[in-house]
Amino acid sequence: MLLKEPVYDLDILSQSNLHIHTDFSGCAKTEMTFEDIVKTAVAAGLSAIAITDHFNDNITDRDFIDHINRLRQEALALKPNIKILFSGELSAYASGKTLESEEVRAALDYRLYSCNHFHLSFWGQPEDKSPRGYALYALDIVDGIIETGFADCIAHPLIGRFVKAFEDRCVLTAAISDNELGELMEKSVEFCTAWEINVGAILGDPVFGRRLWNIGKETGAYFNYGTDAHRLENIDTKKFLPEIKKILM
Ligand SMILES: [Zn+2]
Ligand SMILES: [Zn+2]
Repeated sequence: MLLKEPVYDLDILSQSNLHIHTDFSGCAKTEMTFEDIVKTAVAAGLSAIAITDHFNDNITDRDFIDHINRLRQEALALKPNIKILFSGELSAYASGKTLESEEVRAALDYRLYSCNHFHLSFWGQPEDKSPRGYALYALDIVDGIIETGFADCIAHPLIGRFVKAFEDRCVLTAAISDNELGELMEKSVEFCTAWEINVGAILGDPVFGRRLWNIGKETGAYFNYGTDAHRLENIDTKKFLPEIKKILM
């Protein structure tokens, strides 16, 4: 985690973009080379970025560690004037379960965990396929990964966008009570796990984004900012900041 104290100033939080994919992630554009990401981030005046490629079931621990080491080498050659966290978007795919080994975790500066990639075939699914069923399942995964102490941050927390069966992607979060969210956020403080202000998640489910932000402020939770950039034009956090502010403030 970058911040020693929780910060609730979006201008400060958005000086960092802690969710960026390189072309190592199949879903990112080929323009997302490490060098061009760094150049774009420096030009945007960001103070820190995290490179967070997916760690899914199509990759080995060795491949991922080699990838991280290659990026570190590239950074040494570039000597950029920006803090870079060599990270991964790791998969907490079921209660108490993650894909990566301890060796992978140790190789990373920052561990961002997805807990709701329900669209992926290897992801756990609740028996009860109702919004409440998914809500309980997602809460349980987040609770479990916080307790491991592995997670620096939870990516696009708890949103139901990845449950393809739900036409309205906000039904999952609507099935979570403020009390449940508050208890989980209190626990996150204890374990120093932050919650991601994920631009797409906030824009896609603004009601829940506001609840997360407000309950987080009440409980003293940590937040980090990330655009989940898959293309260069989405690296600059200022692009979406006015909309995010309008929703959260
Ligand atoms: Zn994700
Ligand atoms: Zn991502």
